[in-house]
Amino acid sequence: MRKRMIAGNWKMNNTRPEAVVLTQEIANRVPAAWLDQVDVVIIPPFIDLLPALTVLDFDKNEIAVGAQNCYWEDHGAFTGEVSVPMLKDLGVTYCIVGHSERRGLFGETDEDVNKKVKALIAGGITPIMCCGESLGIRDAGEYIEFVTAQVDAGLAGLDDIDMKNVVVAYEPIWAIGTGRTATPEQAEEVCAAIRAKLADMFGAETAEATRILYGGSMKPENVDGLLAMEDIDGGLIGGASLKSNDFKALIEAATK
Ligand code: PEP
Repeated sequence: MRKRMIAGNWKMNNTRPEAVVLTQEIANRVPAAWLDQVDVVIIPPFIDLLPALTVLDFDKNEIAVGAQNCYWEDHGAFTGEVSVPMLKDLGVTYCIVGHSERRGLFGETDEDVNKKVKALIAGGITPIMCCGESLGIRDAGEYIEFVTAQVDAGLAGLDDIDMKNVVVAYEPIWAIGTGRTATPEQAEEVCAAIRAKLADMFGAETAEATRILYGGSMKPENVDGLLAMEDIDGGLIGGASLKSNDFKALIEAATK
């Protein structure tokens, strides 16, 4: 039985004071008992990590904090980058890797994704590895091959022990921030194909135990249908994670 996960990617939003307010609102609205049913992660920008962690720590709240990116080297002349040991020292427990915005806007390759995934696992932080196709690839009918190739490349060289600390997020690019959600059936088709790919790579038991999230305009109105799908274990949420009421509704849906 896979524990569900709801992770909120704040992207490049919220100054420190805004981050403190949003974190506190989420902490106040999510009863501790829900966290037995669902893992909740907030994923603010780097500068908001410590304020968010401080709020949650003060409240003794079990909501986890993740980063949106990292670099694979531990330290050195890499201006502008943040390493895994730096994140670990703060208390960060998850990190998004290979979000389509990083791939599309900042040139992150499958090889980079793989190096980051390996660095995170070695450093004791759980990667949330994103994959997903563009509208062009979907319309060409090549989305299954494309997404499973991203999974293959991103998780290359890992073993079943490593996979105990990996979360995969399927995020079709055409559904991110567009309001156009994949139907539950569309999302399930790809998430099931990802699980089959994981079974090829790591064996059936590991594939069954690995959490696969859906991301792309998930909101309170469509969450139930998506979470009802067998291979969808939760959500990676962008826009709706910035409103504490909506985020709370998504978390509550995942407890049912
Ligand atoms: C995301 O950026 O990971 C995402 C899913 O965004 P949204 O929910 O806004 O589509």
